[in-house]
Amino acid sequence: MTEDSRQSAVLDKDGIDALIALLAQDGRTVIGPTVRDEAIVLDEIGGGRDLPYGWGVELEAGRYRLQPRSDGAAFAHSAGPQSWKTYLHPQRERQWTTDLTDDGDLVFNEEDSAVPSYAFIGVRPCDLRAIAIQDRVLGGGPHTDTRYAARRRRAFLVVAECTEPGATCFCVSMGSGPAAGPGYDLALTEIVEPDSHRFLVRAGSDEGATVLARLPRAPADERTSEAARGLVEAAAGRMGRSMPPVNLRDLMRDTLHAERWNDVTARCLTCGNCTMACPTCFCTSVEDVTDLTGTHAERWRRWESCFDVEFTHLTSGPVRATPLSRYRQWLTHKVGTWHDQFDSTGCVGCGRCIVWCPTGIDITEEVHALHAERSASAAAPASAAAPAAPAPPAEGPA
Ligand code: SF4
Ligand code: SF4
Repeated sequence: MTEDSRQSAVLDKDGIDALIALLAQDGRTVIGPTVRDEAIVLDEIGGGRDLPYGWGVELEAGRYRLQPRSDGAAFAHSAGPQSWKTYLHPQRERQWTTDLTDDGDLVFNEEDSAVPSYAFIGVRPCDLRAIAIQDRVLGGGPHTDTRYAARRRRAFLVVAECTEPGATCFCVSMGSGPAAGPGYDLALTEIVEPDSHRFLVRAGSDEGATVLARLPRAPADERTSEAARGLVEAAAGRMGRSMPPVNLRDLMRDTLHAERWNDVTARCLTCGNCTMACPTCFCTSVEDVTDLTGTHAERWRRWESCFDVEFTHLTSGPVRATPLSRYRQWLTHKVGTWHDQFDSTGCVGCGRCIVWCPTGIDITEEVHALHAERSASAAAPASAAAPAAPAPPAEGPA
């Protein structure tokens, strides 16, 4: 077998089934997309039968609908309501418990540090980038989340390259898709032709190559590789949305006092849905609970949102008391100051915040509007230009 044929191959639908079975046999909890509650959600899957063969989605701002597909494709749908952070950085996680003994002492109990070994099937390229972003935030450095890091170390990632972008997708303008970037174990590209339903599979790690070598497969042929390349390139040309092609960090810095913030915050409910759906938002709070006897207490960590007025509550009250300050914090951090903090953007262009916003606020529309406002202001005669705004008070990370 040549080096190339060890690294890539062609699977059919039975091969995908065998992949799921093999990962489960190896003791992994296999998570993938499946149809439930009128949506394509992520859940534990028991085989290829659980994948959403024959289903796509119709997306728009504030709108999500399942759509049957006549071609029977499994991965021709864009990002759903959840992201992989549901598993790697769970919504609620107990930190420790404490019990009051008969002697009146408190005994603290650490949580079990064992974590599952996940295999994720059908990770979108934008979500692969989102995992890499969360790795930088949670997986290393002086404030490592040890359980996140342990889950990541044990996770096996099977990417599904995008061949059917949604109307709210803009990964091309964020440089995060539709082709898979580095970091996967296996990458699939699904090809559905009248006489053949197959998957080009490439290994991206030694572990991926080992798993691929254990599967029933055919050698990767030129026709399949060409078809896969063509489908991904065509998807890049069909993105539903885009960000303006400017330095977004500078744009956020230059528009802190733009009129557009008033416009968008007149529509924003500050519900925080966008932060819950976003695959890179990572903020948490802790809460302590006791039982009715008062002898047992637990500390839980849970997702928190920068849209919550209590999130920045200090002794004198919330730092970001207005919806404007909270929406602006979210957006300027996401595509602006995230660069200063983590050396990358915090947005991967998945479009979830657009789809799952109850009032249909569209991050790309807002950024385009800020860009237009800055351009108009730069083009205005100097005498008509507004006086320079004073520097805003510094706001911390989300
Ligand atoms: S932008 Fe939309 S989803 Fe986000 S807080 Fe405002 S209303 Fe909620
Ligand atoms: S900000 Fe919106 S489009 Fe960007 S990664 Fe988060 S949910 Fe996706």
